[in-house]
Amino acid sequence: MRDQAGPRVLLRRLRELMAEALEPQERLDRIVREIAANMVAEVCSLYVLRADSVLELYATEGLNPGSVHHAQLRLGQGLVGTIAASARPINLSDAQRHPAFAYLPETGEEIYHSFLGVPVLRAGRTLGVLVVQNRTMRTYREDELEAMETTAMVIAEMVATGDLARLTRPGLELDLRRPVSFSGMSFNDGVGLGHVVLHEPRIVVTDLFNEDSEQELRRLGSALGSLRLSIDDMLSRRDVAFEGEHRAVLEAYRMFANDRGWVRRLEEAVSNGLTAEAAVEKVQSDMRARMLHMTDPYMRERMSDFDDLANRLLRQLMGHGPEALASTLPKDAIIVARSMGAAELLDYPRDRLRGLVLEDGAVTSHVVIVARAMGIPVAGQMKGAVSMAENGDAIIVDGEEGRIHLRPQPDVEAAYAEKVRFRARRQELYRELRAKPSQTAEGVHVDLLMNAGLAVDLPQLSESGAAGIGLFRTELQFMVAATFPRAEAQERLYRDVMDAARGKPVTFRTIDIGGDKVLPYFKNTSNEENPALGWRAIRLTLDRPALLRTQVRALLKAAGGRELRLMLPMITELGEIFQAREIIDREVRHLSRFAHDLPTSLRIGAMIEVPALLWQLDELMRSVDFVSVGSNDLFQFVMAADRGNTLLSDRFDPLSVPFLRVLKQIVDAGQASGTPVTLCGELAGRPISAMALLGLGYRSISMSPASIGPVKAMLTELPLEKLEAFLADALSRPGAGRDMRAELSAFAEEHGVPL
Ligand code: PEP
Ligand code: MG
Repeated sequence: MRDQAGPRVLLRRLRELMAEALEPQERLDRIVREIAANMVAEVCSLYVLRADSVLELYATEGLNPGSVHHAQLRLGQGLVGTIAASARPINLSDAQRHPAFAYLPETGEEIYHSFLGVPVLRAGRTLGVLVVQNRTMRTYREDELEAMETTAMVIAEMVATGDLARLTRPGLELDLRRPVSFSGMSFNDGVGLGHVVLHEPRIVVTDLFNEDSEQELRRLGSALGSLRLSIDDMLSRRDVAFEGEHRAVLEAYRMFANDRGWVRRLEEAVSNGLTAEAAVEKVQSDMRARMLHMTDPYMRERMSDFDDLANRLLRQLMGHGPEALASTLPKDAIIVARSMGAAELLDYPRDRLRGLVLEDGAVTSHVVIVARAMGIPVAGQMKGAVSMAENGDAIIVDGEEGRIHLRPQPDVEAAYAEKVRFRARRQELYRELRAKPSQTAEGVHVDLLMNAGLAVDLPQLSESGAAGIGLFRTELQFMVAATFPRAEAQERLYRDVMDAARGKPVTFRTIDIGGDKVLPYFKNTSNEENPALGWRAIRLTLDRPALLRTQVRALLKAAGGRELRLMLPMITELGEIFQAREIIDREVRHLSRFAHDLPTSLRIGAMIEVPALLWQLDELMRSVDFVSVGSNDLFQFVMAADRGNTLLSDRFDPLSVPFLRVLKQIVDAGQASGTPVTLCGELAGRPISAMALLGLGYRSISMSPASIGPVKAMLTELPLEKLEAFLADALSRPGAGRDMRAELSAFAEEHGVPL
């Protein structure tokens, strides 16, 4: 043992046993016998955690064989239960004097004094406990503990790969198969039933044992070296050099990659006979298990950093990470990820995706924007989901409630299948509505437009029955790309969009980057304290006119022979519109000089997102062909409340008297000057707020395609004149303490308007 030969011999024997064609019980019996012999222990027992939180004795050498599958301890009970609950080993020379010791008479263990037990861990989850015992008061050495932990890891693989499932009795399944539910946040509506696909697949280390520890240590050393170099390289890149949070994460990685404790534990595991990959997995699993019980959010966040780092190291060791191949993807894939980039989601074939689960993220994360565009349900802030899920597990994503059910029980699954059918029937209803005119009960026409931004959105144009695209967020193409999209790629997308629209109007918004919309390849180096109020949207593109020029030229070319509608984001002063117009005019002149096919008409609009415009509405209306209210930004600026801050998300209501008055002022100014007014923020997409907008005078609103059905169902039942009178009266009275949302919903209820 002292020269590490013991663990190596044991691991080799275990490998042989795993490869032999044995019944699972026989295999377990031989494994515990082998461990006992190798550790010179009289007893070796394996307890496995069941779904009902009971640890059941699955195999023993030394204790009464009749107690196998009978002896049991609850989680937290006795030494074994304590090990399982704390995920920490216990090493005692006189176990019976330990306060947690619980005596199980059926096992006949009263004659044993020394005790060493380790948790059987996989990805930080406790699956069971492995114990050795001796009669004498012996103290197990550190290297023996290490050997036991390594052995436990091999057993964890056996449990996880389903070998032991054949030994379970009905109703007493293994904990690994336990159904679990998580509650987090709803990022996109919808319900998805399917099977787990881990976005960063837990790299399955199949090769556990090394042939030559020295050589393996060298492999580990060189992978660690490359890992450190790649982190240094990322840190020295100019775009990261000044950046706050991203840099802090990388600094943490660098610190961990050089952490002596971590590296030493890895080396020890390799010296004990594991491959470098298996060593990374073992050390990581131990750490996760220990830190899982910590409540300090800072420490938990650091654990995630460590996880990422371990994954990077595994990928270094195994060449490149195994990409999820389309061919191996289930037909009903539900992607489970800690976090992911928008472009990565687009790599999955859309027709196989049923949902997305994120441990992190926010409604405004790019990946969420893209998922919404693809119309898949998304549940976020699901802390711990990744470690509890195994590839292929059944899972339900409830994007409506912000919940997931992993390995759901049959009744939960049946309830959700019913929910899916109910939603499908509702969708059917919306589809029928598509053919009906988009008008109120009294016959007032309203344009229901959709928001889009990527080619994946286009099929929704006909499916939703939208009257056109009221907001095409051109920056999304930039956000999902690895570098600035070339002029040709931009032109191609714009042309595809207009082709797909088949003559329906499309309003292209010029690039709206900055704020929370960052391009990884274009960093703002000025380290803004308030990016939402900073260098973004039209401010940025007027300072970098080449960006705007390229885009405008691509748009003009793509729109040759048809109408082009261009919209400018974040306008604060009218001067910005004039400046942008100059750039646009120059491009028009340039193209006409080269005899390009030009748009038949060019309409230029401004977004109303900055409150300063409210005091120059008349001049604004005279300066543009149309305006569109960006209620997401306008609301955040009017209320001084960050739109992405979850602490504030329910604090202020856009359906409050002051904000409704703001919206009314805008639509009135549009009517007075004959300038068309649209609204294209999230407000347009909820039936209750869409109803309020119609009551204020809006006749054109743009929303996510999935909202068109529910909004149209509301619209066709709406007694508009009554609502207008009701709102005019409500807004003319003092607003303090009034709950307009409740009043509007009472109005809908009274008049049978479905919300
Ligand atoms: C808005 O601000 O309301 C808007 C539509 O633009 P975005 O959400 O893209 O900022
Ligand atoms: Mg905006």
